[in-house]
Amino acid sequence: MLRIALITFIVAPLLMIGCDSSAPSARADEGQLTVVCTTTMITDLARVIAGPDAQVIGIMKTGEDPHVYEMRPRDTQNIAAADLVLMNGLHLEAQIDHVVENHASGHVVRLAEDTRIKPRGSDQYQGAPDPHCWFNVEYFKVYAERARDALIEVDPSHAEAYRQRTDTYLAELTALHDWAKQQIAAVPKAQRVMITSHDAFGYFGETYDIEVHAVIGMSTEQIPTGRDKIRLQQLVTDRGAKAVFIETSVSQALNDMVRQIAEATGVRVGGTLYSDSLGEPDSDVGTYLGMFRHNVHTVVEALK
Ligand SMILES: [Zn+2]
Repeated sequence: MLRIALITFIVAPLLMIGCDSSAPSARADEGQLTVVCTTTMITDLARVIAGPDAQVIGIMKTGEDPHVYEMRPRDTQNIAAADLVLMNGLHLEAQIDHVVENHASGHVVRLAEDTRIKPRGSDQYQGAPDPHCWFNVEYFKVYAERARDALIEVDPSHAEAYRQRTDTYLAELTALHDWAKQQIAAVPKAQRVMITSHDAFGYFGETYDIEVHAVIGMSTEQIPTGRDKIRLQQLVTDRGAKAVFIETSVSQALNDMVRQIAEATGVRVGGTLYSDSLGEPDSDVGTYLGMFRHNVHTVVEALK
């Protein structure tokens, strides 16, 4: 509480300019633990585990792209006041990382940066590790365990509740992982070729045994070129791919290129995948579990 009071005094006046008073603020309820999360996947995870015992604030909204997310003034305010900041790490949240370094006063946990998670090899364009670890459900279970441990550390009085909710969630994740494996194994191996807008599905392909290709690399900051298009068209033809997929959280230009590849090669657009953002809250794809089920279902229907 003392820390929050001090931050309010020191930081708040600096942040008043451009502050949206209608937006959720970390100081909305000063009596409760505040957890600030970056991506929508992590916000969902934190809400499940925190339950009624903490106020969870998500920085990114539905459809926002973490690679190019631009900070709003209230984000800095929320990060500064948070008891706990949960983020993905591995440089997914390029701009937020900088603000967290400079302004966070609470505990900060980068969920994907853990010895149990083996980052996929370096991106051919940037030499950075692949941050999209949540597409291996076993790795998302590590996220859940680390979020639980962080909550217990900052708020030991609710340890038992955090543990119980995490146990229930881990069981659901295990069931999801097994279901996804079964579903995808039912598609003949030669047909398991997935072509997407940006290279977000490397862990998905590795874990569930699908060959994955993308128009551009692991970050959406890259601009697709005519050469990328030709390379993918050739690949669709060579590998006899059955479908290509567009994504919800990337630029129109990138999805347009996927559609052009489909037109030029005669394959169909197999559907829309959720890559770096969940769908609308309160919809079927508004949770990590629902989003993952949707992606598996879409891929299996298009490739089988
Ligand atoms: Zn991405």
